[in-house]
Amino acid sequence: QISMKTGQIHVSTENIFPIIKKFLYSDHEIFLRELVSNAVDANQKLKVLSSTGEFKGELGELKVEVLLDKESKTLTIRDNGIGMTADEIDKYINQIAFSGAEEFVKQYEGKEGAESIIGHFGLGFYSGFMVAEKVQIRTLSRHEGSQAVQWESNGSPEYTLTEIDKESRGTDIVLYINEESIEFLEKSRIQGILDKYCKFLPIPVFFGDKVEYINSPEGEMDEDGKVKRISIDIPNQINNPKPAWTSAPVDLKDEDYNSFYRELYPMSFDDPLFHIHLNVDYPFNLTGILYFPKIKENVEVQRNKINLYSNQVFITDSVAEIVPEFLTLLHGVIDSPDIPLNVSRSYLQSDGNVKKISAHITKKVADKLAEMFKKDRADFESKWDDLKIFVEYGMLSDEKFAEKAKTFALIKNTDGKYYTIEEFKEQIAPLQTNKDGKLIALYTHSLEEHFSFVKQAKDRGFQVAIIDGPLASHWISTIEQTNENLGFVRVDADALDQLIQKEGELPAKLTEEQQTALKPLFESAVDNRKFKVEFKSMSETDSPIIVTQPEFVRRMMEQQKYGGGGF
Ligand code: ADP
Ligand code: MG
Repeated sequence: QISMKTGQIHVSTENIFPIIKKFLYSDHEIFLRELVSNAVDANQKLKVLSSTGEFKGELGELKVEVLLDKESKTLTIRDNGIGMTADEIDKYINQIAFSGAEEFVKQYEGKEGAESIIGHFGLGFYSGFMVAEKVQIRTLSRHEGSQAVQWESNGSPEYTLTEIDKESRGTDIVLYINEESIEFLEKSRIQGILDKYCKFLPIPVFFGDKVEYINSPEGEMDEDGKVKRISIDIPNQINNPKPAWTSAPVDLKDEDYNSFYRELYPMSFDDPLFHIHLNVDYPFNLTGILYFPKIKENVEVQRNKINLYSNQVFITDSVAEIVPEFLTLLHGVIDSPDIPLNVSRSYLQSDGNVKKISAHITKKVADKLAEMFKKDRADFESKWDDLKIFVEYGMLSDEKFAEKAKTFALIKNTDGKYYTIEEFKEQIAPLQTNKDGKLIALYTHSLEEHFSFVKQAKDRGFQVAIIDGPLASHWISTIEQTNENLGFVRVDADALDQLIQKEGELPAKLTEEQQTALKPLFESAVDNRKFKVEFKSMSETDSPIIVTQPEFVRRMMEQQKYGGGGF
């Protein structure tokens, strides 16, 4: 007999507190993201309550302020949102890992604005203790006639709760920055963190002042002595609360997309080649704008420029686990509250939502390219040289993408004409087959290097494709695998010899008699051990005799020329 007993696991705050404080987030700067997100949530919640009629007061100008006071060594995050009563503090703050945000979202599911609440895990607030020796919450609830309260803790499991005087609705979180964290008392450091995480939060966030000049007859002359102007300090808003990806695609013009691109990457000079606006709400939530950059030589430095957001809060710019590798060449923003955060990277890869999101993005990109190709082929062709690496990379690494890309992947010939794979096959079908009837696509990776062979091939009416770039040989083998009757052969004399002239198409231009008379003459003139004389022509305009040099002879001669002589 096995005796069985059930019980409850006890968590002692004494033990768990240091863990939360020190190891919850490996990156200490995250505390600011968490506290500003809470402040934004507090404002968003008030908006929801106002729209349902539960809050009847004036919303006023909802905003978040970050205040730095070097003297008292404090950093304060202030909002004018819902605030908390003493009871609410007890419920939401004194219970670790109970998320008030999650509770709110459940309660107001379906109400406008409820879906944009950021909080989730009920741990963010405590991240303040990573950088502060003491944290105060000074808050006045939205309820009429409530008593303002202050919660204070030095990071031990004890706290104090006192009644205070506070006139304005909302919450101040005051961090008394600890000795090891004085970097967070530097203006530039805080500005940097806000720029990184809070740039697109949905509620205006202010930090410090900035100087602005306005023209006025009472002012001083400007440097050019042209106009009189006065300088004024105005609150410095660090965010754009309505970034382009949150708008409906129909409301945006190309110019809006391009200017948002510059907002994301102020250092980039080129406009992107095209963009894709992601906008899904079922079966997962995903918005965002992906840009296709002009890819420069160095593919490596272009990578990992996609920023991942969750409800407009920046999370990370390493999305390698979320999108297939070839898509990391894209730039832009993905925003999804359905991508689990604060979890390990390896977990991300196996997450069902992440997989679906990744597949969705791949499909969207392929569809967009197909649509561009169909809509304006000339324009697509003009972009092809910049798109090529990306499409080839995609075809090599993702079967589904390859399946779609078959219809728009282009092959450029030596005359600068572009063909789809099928079109190219049609082009070469009349002339370029070997003795087994297999289509032979001639190609070169370098026009300069194969100049004379390309010329010979063209004289004989053949098409030569330019297939170059780092992925060329891999790409050729995938195309060969999916097109059984097609083989790629690098253009050289042997390759040209493999191609048979189709009977009847272009007959010899000289009679038998003429041929017999001329053959010895030619052979004695060109050394018949090294050259081959044939009485055939490959096109109407071609000469009636072809003298070719077999590839092995050419190589041998080359060897001798450079002193090799190993034959
Ligand atoms: P989460 O945001 O995931 O719910 P947090 O630990 O960040 O968890 O915050 C816990 C709860 O404390 C919030 O859900 C909210 O109810 C409350 N709270 C935190 N900051 C504020 C604030 N500035 N104004 C009002 N309530 C707040
Ligand atoms: Mg939170």
